[in-house]
Amino acid sequence: MKQGVVFNIQKYSIHDGPGIRTTVFLKGCPLKCWWCHNPESQKIEGQLMFLANKCIVCRDCEKVCPTGAISFSNKGFNYDSSKCKLCEKCSEACPSEALEFAGKKLSQEDVIKEIEKDKIFYEESGGGVTFSGGEPLVQIDFLDNLLKLAKAKGLHTAIDTCGYSLWENIDRIKDKVDLFLYDIKHMDDEKHKKYTGVSNKLILDNLMKLAKEGKKIWVRIPIIPGINDDDINIEKTCKFISSLNLKDVFLLPYHNIAIDKYKRLDMKYKVLDIENPDDEVMETTAQKFRGYGLNVKIGG
Ligand code: SF4
Ligand code: SF4
Repeated sequence: MKQGVVFNIQKYSIHDGPGIRTTVFLKGCPLKCWWCHNPESQKIEGQLMFLANKCIVCRDCEKVCPTGAISFSNKGFNYDSSKCKLCEKCSEACPSEALEFAGKKLSQEDVIKEIEKDKIFYEESGGGVTFSGGEPLVQIDFLDNLLKLAKAKGLHTAIDTCGYSLWENIDRIKDKVDLFLYDIKHMDDEKHKKYTGVSNKLILDNLMKLAKEGKKIWVRIPIIPGINDDDINIEKTCKFISSLNLKDVFLLPYHNIAIDKYKRLDMKYKVLDIENPDDEVMETTAQKFRGYGLNVKIGG
């Protein structure tokens, strides 16, 4: 596949692997985590985001829309995604930047050109490129091509994955990936299904296979108070990681900064009553992981 759907290319990223990196966010994810802070990443298609606080109700968007996807009622702006052809005429016509698109089709050459612009920073800092999402393995052909091109340019490559993919996909790209940032969200399968929408069996199985092959892996664990930070889950997680002879663990504190994005996308946010864990809570949690001999860092 020569084109893929990308929703962000973030420069000077320092949380997605070693050194200074460019992180390319690909759209599409098989999980629907309650705490997802990139809800615009979940669908593979482009999505229109409406910023109500910027709208001056000029209705220019409604006038230019060729499909009738936008209309206004006495409750305000309405958007029917089933009619939308993603032509972007509405966002181009909007005088107040109240309409944004999440996701653009980009060619693999354009993405690599953008990544290459910062090659000097990667060389000086030991950085490179990280493919994230969503779940980058969802666009496996596009990801595979990007990895091939990145390796051909001599770049250090990482992927940030939830691990929920057929092994044949992971097997196909694994030798072009220098570092896997691999998420573990919950060890209890029923809770994993409840909070992410899928079983953890495939995820844990794929991690075991990668570890067995001696791949470089950093395990990343989002710490969601009341959901996966209890002692039983932490113990099971630590024992599992240790059994694979993996050492590097990154604890990512839950934060609720994405609430506004859910509103813009007209999506429901499920974990509204959870406090962001403060430094003390994170340090206490990190100590529990260190108790199992793991190298733990807080943050990406
Ligand atoms: S992207 Fe095009 S089809 Fe979709 S709402 Fe905007 S103008 Fe209408
Ligand atoms: S064009 Fe922009 S400002 Fe005007 S009604 Fe549409 S969203 Fe609101």
